[in-house]
Amino acid sequence: MHANLQSIMPQVIATWCEQEGHEVTMICYTGQEDLSKALPQGINLVFISAFTQAALLAYALSNFFRSQGAVTVLGGPHARCYPDDAVQYFDYVFGFTNKKTITELLNDCTARPLGGKYITASSQPGSFCGVEERWKFIEPTLKKAPLLKIVPMLGSVGCPYTCPFCIDSTVPYQPLDFQVIKKDLQFLLSKFKKPWVAWHDPNFGIRFDENMEAIATAAPPKSFHFIAESSLSVLTEKHLKVLRDNGFAALLPGIESWYELGNKSRTSHMSGEQKVKQVSEHVRLLFDYIPYIQTNFVLGLDSDEGSEPFELTKRFIDKSPNAFPGYSLLTAFGEAAPLNLEYQKAGRVLPFPFHFLNNHLAMNVKPRNYNWIDFYDKVIDLTAYSFSAKALYRRFKNTPDLTSRWMNFMRAISSEGYGRLRFYRQVRKHLVEDRSFRSYFEGETNRLPAFYSNIIKKDLGVWYQWLPQGAIAHNPNAYLQKQRAQ
Ligand code: SF4
Repeated sequence: MHANLQSIMPQVIATWCEQEGHEVTMICYTGQEDLSKALPQGINLVFISAFTQAALLAYALSNFFRSQGAVTVLGGPHARCYPDDAVQYFDYVFGFTNKKTITELLNDCTARPLGGKYITASSQPGSFCGVEERWKFIEPTLKKAPLLKIVPMLGSVGCPYTCPFCIDSTVPYQPLDFQVIKKDLQFLLSKFKKPWVAWHDPNFGIRFDENMEAIATAAPPKSFHFIAESSLSVLTEKHLKVLRDNGFAALLPGIESWYELGNKSRTSHMSGEQKVKQVSEHVRLLFDYIPYIQTNFVLGLDSDEGSEPFELTKRFIDKSPNAFPGYSLLTAFGEAAPLNLEYQKAGRVLPFPFHFLNNHLAMNVKPRNYNWIDFYDKVIDLTAYSFSAKALYRRFKNTPDLTSRWMNFMRAISSEGYGRLRFYRQVRKHLVEDRSFRSYFEGETNRLPAFYSNIIKKDLGVWYQWLPQGAIAHNPNAYLQKQRAQ
């Protein structure tokens, strides 16, 4: 993970392990470190937290550590999404994790070479270690961040909304202790003049008044810069005024699609043109109060058909030139969301290796209303439009805040803008020119095109040799098969 996106849970587990009397080293791998030098020697127990995109590296590291006699544990999003795959490569795989499950493991963590064990608590914890307790694990990672140093915090877990594609849609909403939040914020003021804090809540704005009160009573107004994800429906003008007064500098509302999922943005009764107009006006209002807005879209949803959804997004970009557009290709992450069962039942989930499941390198759900070449044409066209010289100029001109301008520009010219465009064009070229490549996308063969296996080899580098045999492949329908067996 980028240092500024460091996860909270590994820090919490490191703290719990220390509280139990263990000696702990924590490393946040940002992709820059030489892991063969950074990893500690002679350890007994290794926890790895990984998103699915990093699963193959995690599997290789587990294999390496097991060869050294250590017991290995996987947690984090990949463990929640693909537990049955992960137990083949780890001694233990954790779903919901709390102090009790960790303590029990620490007291009995024998190696399980014949098959790992899946352990999960009944729910997410209702409390976590605060920033002060985690600081010794936060600080070394922040040192790796270039200019801005962003501290991760949580005000809640779960979400009351039920967007069927989302991992949090089935997790009950639980606010965390506001006194702890207040104490954490006060602690940060002892470390930074004006701290940057990213709220990692799935949906920050739910208990709006309580969260704002905790912030307002922690320190005088504008003592912090905050970043948060929130549904548009929560971002009313009244709330925006409070957010501005409390120092919110960036918000990431989800728009997802022009045709469905509008329950989050209070636009479920409208679609198409009407929604573009309404959401653009809402986003314009956000900019009256908040300097940086990223609007998130999912491409390839079943409700999308023909050119219209892509053209509507382009109209949105015209109408909201200062909002940074974040695009995700529809991806079914194993057991993450109820909707994945429907995709699996329809035989639409493709076995793209985990390495490519990061919402843009591969779309592992066959689109319902597009053929692949048509779909990639439209994605390329939209991405090119979003990061064209004209769009960049308009974004620059309409963004008075200097930090926001700089962030928009860097994101556009980095792997996120131009890099993705280059990659999509390569994929489209292979789809046209290589029959076997196309067959993989059509689900006619499981033989992974060399284009993808070469990327895995290159990205894993020296760790590729530690990748267990067969680990590149996984069962894309494991969730459905498990449900049927139950
Ligand atoms: S509002 Fe956001 S966090 Fe909540 S279920 Fe929907 S997508 Fe997930």
